[in-house]
Amino acid sequence: MIITPKRTTPAAAQRLGTGHQQCHTREAGVDIEGWLTGAERRPSPNHDPRPPGTGIDLLVIHNISLPPGNFSGDWIDDLFLNRLDAGAHPYFHHIAGQRVSAHLLIRRDGRLFQYVAFERRAWHAGASRFAGRDRCNDFSIGIELEGTDDAPFAEAQYERLAECTIHIMHRYRGITEERIAGHSEIAPGRKTDPGPAFDWLRYRESIRGSALF
Ligand SMILES: [Zn+2]
Repeated sequence: MIITPKRTTPAAAQRLGTGHQQCHTREAGVDIEGWLTGAERRPSPNHDPRPPGTGIDLLVIHNISLPPGNFSGDWIDDLFLNRLDAGAHPYFHHIAGQRVSAHLLIRRDGRLFQYVAFERRAWHAGASRFAGRDRCNDFSIGIELEGTDDAPFAEAQYERLAECTIHIMHRYRGITEERIAGHSEIAPGRKTDPGPAFDWLRYRESIRGSALF
């Protein structure tokens, strides 16, 4: 088979996902209210203002699946939008009626949903502490990965997570690599997510190699 070299135009380069696309998406990024371009918006009522003068300088990684271990259906949406049917599954009895949210959810196939604008406080961390500071919801952004502690996360999720993280770090400069933590790290003994199946090394390498910095 003979392969004919093709000229790569800038437009083609964008489609191919080369550096041109990175420049393009960098301009897109995060809007003034903290909505991420490229995320499907599902506005949740579960948010409130961050305390005055509070910077956003922590990123918290979680996992969630509803019911646990199930990766189909829209139950996570239902939970974050306060419409989870308590009768639909025995597990839901425990959590229906909770008022919780995360800023972002990345589903198994890499689809990205945003429930709360970054400038607002989402309710994902609960009782928590990072670097001696309590109430991490005040100063953090929370990202949920659809999954469990023990099941390997999907390729598409790592790719999307890296992309989101790069945009977030570009906009919120206080979020440095050292200020990205798992929920288990900020709520030890109470929370275990994102769990041992989450590949921190891979994740950290994926953001370190970013052309944005
Ligand atoms: Zn969590």
